[in-house]
Amino acid sequence: MILSCSIEMKSDMHFDYIILGSGAAGLSLAHRMASDRYFDNKSIAIIDQDKKSRNDRTWCFWESNEGYFDSIVKKRWEEIQFYSKTLDKRQKIDPYQYKMISGLDFYNHTIPFIKQHANFTFIHDEIISVTESPQNAIVKTSSNNYTANLVLKSYPSVEKLNPKEHIYVDQHFKGFFIETNKPVFEPSCATFMDFRIDQKDDARFLYVLPESETKALVEVALFSNSLLSKEDYNLILTDYIKDFLKIEEYSILEEEFGIIPMTTYAFKKHNTKHVFHIGTGGGIVKASSGFAFTRIQRHSTQLINCMKNGSPLANSYDGLHGRHTFYDKIMLHAMLENGTAGEDIFTDLFAKKTAAQIFKFLDHDTSFVEDIGIFKAPPMLPFTKSFFSVFGK
Ligand SMILES: Cc1cc2nc3c(=O)[nH]c(=O)nc-3n(C[C@H](O)[C@H](O)[C@H](O)COP(=O)(O)OP(=O)(O)OC[C@H]3O[C@@H](n4cnc5c(N)ncnc54)[C@H](O)[C@@H]3O)c2cc1C
Repeated sequence: MILSCSIEMKSDMHFDYIILGSGAAGLSLAHRMASDRYFDNKSIAIIDQDKKSRNDRTWCFWESNEGYFDSIVKKRWEEIQFYSKTLDKRQKIDPYQYKMISGLDFYNHTIPFIKQHANFTFIHDEIISVTESPQNAIVKTSSNNYTANLVLKSYPSVEKLNPKEHIYVDQHFKGFFIETNKPVFEPSCATFMDFRIDQKDDARFLYVLPESETKALVEVALFSNSLLSKEDYNLILTDYIKDFLKIEEYSILEEEFGIIPMTTYAFKKHNTKHVFHIGTGGGIVKASSGFAFTRIQRHSTQLINCMKNGSPLANSYDGLHGRHTFYDKIMLHAMLENGTAGEDIFTDLFAKKTAAQIFKFLDHDTSFVEDIGIFKAPPMLPFTKSFFSVFGK
């Protein structure tokens, strides 16, 4: 089904740009394009099978100043809590704030704004294939074919990677947005990571994002190439709510679930003349942590600059890769080799470094000297072993 915002659809279904996927990456880019007069005379289609009318995920990220989507930040925290079996540390995170945006607020903010622009067309359909001729990219959906000078594809052009061939693991998220009758949460502090649960040979942690004294998102993140059953994810959450949060009575207002790839695989090698990858499809998800929202914002801004300056789109990845990708490889390798390495690494980091130092490192904003300070914090053995295992790979 085509929901056209343009007054008249071109009969050949050709666009200057087609964005595949109206998730975080597709809409962050499209919102910037709709806000920039440079794109006013370009025709732009956005194709997704999902109408994005559900609250399918919640993004948290840290920022030290005003962010592009600040107007829809639902909650922000200036303090975070870290727990593991050996560490209980609460700290202020200035100059950063930890911010939360709910998926539905993001879709309801971006989609109507983009639709106000007549040069944008939203198409709700399943994308079957993306191919290329010398002139164009060709997108085949279940009901039509479209062509574009440039396709920006936000989901990967590879089927699931083989974990035996690549450093790869799925990160699964399952969350309950809960409400209690009595005040139980401290709304001024978010639990960033809680590793106190049994790791069962995967890295597993929970996070608690209190919106008020009675409402919070409680979510588990789990690194494993085997999915659990729905009941098992739910059991981790219900046990945690009972045993660690000490909450007996609550109602579940909403649930969220999703899987993302954790890998340093060079997704960008699938870029061609007419098809360029963004978001998860462009390897923008940070391989060692899964954080992507801030990186998507940085990448979108850089991409817009490249398009306007006529510089190669590949330059837009600058700052998101480089030596930090090698660090991600080491951390991910160490976590995959040893089920408790995730807990050990983050425990030592949080014990010895401030959250602000860790955030700066995870944002790739540290100098090489600061990186060394970070690398001296975690246990040396798994790191050194992983360093030599991934070196040169
Ligand atoms: C539950 C969950 C919680 C997360 N929490 C955080 C967080 O707190 N902080 C953070 O930084 N990151 C987080 N992430 C990671 C990352 O930020 C998100 O996955 C983010 O949504 C990635 O954006 P994207 O555009 O690449 O992919 P998505 O947002 O997943 O968008 C991809 C879109 O492509 C569409 N699509 C895919 N295939 C097809 C097809 N064949 N045909 C038509 N449409 C198709 C999908 O319907 C989807 O809308 C989380 C991820 C999940 C799953």
